[in-house]
Amino acid sequence: MEGALRLKAKVEQRLRDHRLRPTKARIRIGMMLLESPKHLSADQIFDKLTKHGHCISKATVYNTLNVFAKHGVVNEVAVDPTRMYYDSTTSPHHHFYNTDTGQLTDIPRENLSVENIPRLPDNTEIEDLEIVIKIKNKQPS
Ligand SMILES: [Zn+2]
Repeated sequence: MEGALRLKAKVEQRLRDHRLRPTKARIRIGMMLLESPKHLSADQIFDKLTKHGHCISKATVYNTLNVFAKHGVVNEVAVDPTRMYYDSTTSPHHHFYNTDTGQLTDIPRENLSVENIPRLPDNTEIEDLEIVIKIKNKQPS
């Protein structure tokens, strides 16, 4: 219980840091995402909340995550065209994406170096460089 209270305080602080009012839904969803480094889709968050007996609508989950992403509380990771993942780690890093399991795994930025970036099109600059390495499970031989 003490851990939950500490987590709640942490989430409230994070919301305030991003100038978001700590509503009940934001705190609930924030506690789910910010407990530890995590990548979750809106549906996964909705399922977990419902399973834990919380009464929340899918629309509220989607809206809250959109607000979180817009305010930088979480990062959006668009690896799967059918769903968005929300990443509780907001500093730049890369990912493994397992297409069999849908699992996203962090790759610390310093563990991957990118050399030979091609010449950028005229009048452009790099805004972000985030690499997703798609992996799949090996077939047993
Ligand atoms: Zn990540």
